[in-house]
Amino acid sequence: MKKFFAFLAVLALPFGIAAPARAGTASPAAATPPYHVVRPGETIKKIADFYGITPKQLRAWNAIVKPNQPSVDGVLNLAKPLSPLTGWRSWIENVTPGQVNWDPAKNCPVPPEDLRKVWVTYIDFYGVAHPGSIVVNKAIAARTQSVFLSLYRMRFRIQGMSPMTVNAPYITDYGTVTAGYSCRLIAGTKTVSQHAYGLAIDVNPVQNPMYRGTYVESGTEVTFMTRWAYRRGMMHAAGAVRAFTTNGFHWGGRWHTLKDYMHFSPTNK
Ligand SMILES: [Zn+2]
Repeated sequence: MKKFFAFLAVLALPFGIAAPARAGTASPAAATPPYHVVRPGETIKKIADFYGITPKQLRAWNAIVKPNQPSVDGVLNLAKPLSPLTGWRSWIENVTPGQVNWDPAKNCPVPPEDLRKVWVTYIDFYGVAHPGSIVVNKAIAARTQSVFLSLYRMRFRIQGMSPMTVNAPYITDYGTVTAGYSCRLIAGTKTVSQHAYGLAIDVNPVQNPMYRGTYVESGTEVTFMTRWAYRRGMMHAAGAVRAFTTNGFHWGGRWHTLKDYMHFSPTNK
């Protein structure tokens, strides 16, 4: 559902100017620390032994307090992180019509006053924490906060959230953004998408593709269609998906004809 993120590109600029500048925003490509994606059955001890480090180091580099174990789909630093994780913060703002590209002629089902911008702390692909925002229906604003708190505690990584200009200026493809509200139809249909109600969230669209039978969106990386793999940003039922399902969301990865691994909605649509 990438093309629909185009409008977010327009929104990102004013958000970026308003948002506080943060450390660690330079392109991290030169120094991506080594990491490990947690698979089912793994423990701190198992992972530490495998890499020849101590459990104490692994806990310290990932701010994991004893006796907590890592979560499936979590990404652990295997060296001292570039910058230590910040505390998790979240707040909710109203949105202006301009911020959501409001156009009365489009007959969007939910007015801007029923939408909220939810700010959360998230960990990017390089292990750096940022404030990111997502626009959702006010009815799910609180549970959206809970979801992102769970993802943060899992040490799950998100490639990018708005404002991209601040958090991930090295990303130019807005189809990679984790986002919610978008006034649009479901691709290839005349049905209004749950995103148009602010009742759906897409997470790491590149790593969690959508496809219907043999139809695959252009640009989809085949490697991410192999869902048994555990790679940075991928979601699995035993892992990051639980952050959503324990907060009343359903997962598009459980659908049959259409597989939408990035998509979560409380309406299961
Ligand atoms: Zn979606």
